[in-house]
Amino acid sequence: MNDQTLNGQIALITGASRGIGAAICDTLALHGATVVGTATSESGAAAITERLKGLGVTGCGMQLDVTDAEAASTCVSAISEQFGPISILVNNAGITRDNLFMRMKDDEWEDVIATNLSSVFRMSKLVIKPMVKARSGRIINISSVVGITGNAGQVNYAASKAGLLGMTRSLARELGSRSITINAIAPGFIESDMTDALPEDQKNKIKGEISLGRLGTPDDIAQTCLFLASDGAAYITGQTISVNGGMVMP
Ligand code: NAP
Repeated sequence: MNDQTLNGQIALITGASRGIGAAICDTLALHGATVVGTATSESGAAAITERLKGLGVTGCGMQLDVTDAEAASTCVSAISEQFGPISILVNNAGITRDNLFMRMKDDEWEDVIATNLSSVFRMSKLVIKPMVKARSGRIINISSVVGITGNAGQVNYAASKAGLLGMTRSLARELGSRSITINAIAPGFIESDMTDALPEDQKNKIKGEISLGRLGTPDDIAQTCLFLASDGAAYITGQTISVNGGMVMP
């Protein structure tokens, strides 16, 4: 039996106000980690704190825009001071700015790369020193099935999510000797605000392509993240775990 106790771990989950990030934040906390979940607004951060209080777990919400380098540094310092060094980083915050390539504007490209990819470089850098010192740590990057298959209308998003996979593998090679693991999860289509925005006929078409016949839930992703954060996954690094209901198979 895999022991998924995260007692004594300090976890930072970006974009934990809703959807997949909220499920990951709550699941890690319910398994013993002290968690900090971030939201882009003060009210979102306060709501995370309240949610965690309601669950009777340890942790809080903090405000963070992951594209703001100074705010990211301040946030990581505040967590270290309040709780101790971060031992689990889940890079979950992400956005879409979909458009056909011919119509895609520079800012649609740049916003997505800044939020989904450059921020992960920066957040990882901020947590890595204490992990190297401790000779342990976990970084889990939330990529996407689209980063593997590509998707019309999502050149920016697919590039950011594919970029994460290359970053994951390279960092895993650099840090393996320090017993730090870096892995990615590639969710398929998961019920959240992000997919709620899709028209109903498109959702039904997608369901038809999923072997399990349904969209995934945030908890489907949270359970995989819990496993990757746990001792049971100590020998897994540089991997991309697809959680897509059999939508795409290698
Ligand atoms: P969501 O419901 O739209 O939530 C997005 C989260 O990211 C929110 O907590 C949001 O915070 C946060 N966020 C957005 N911009 C941010 C910024 N600049 N700085 C910090 N936080 C920011 O998304 P989701 O569906 O749960 O997706 C979570 C992750 O999974 C994303 O990386 C997404 O690309 C990936 N993913 C999702 C699916 C899917 O089908 N849903 C599939 C594959 C991959 P606020 O609430 O404060 O705005």
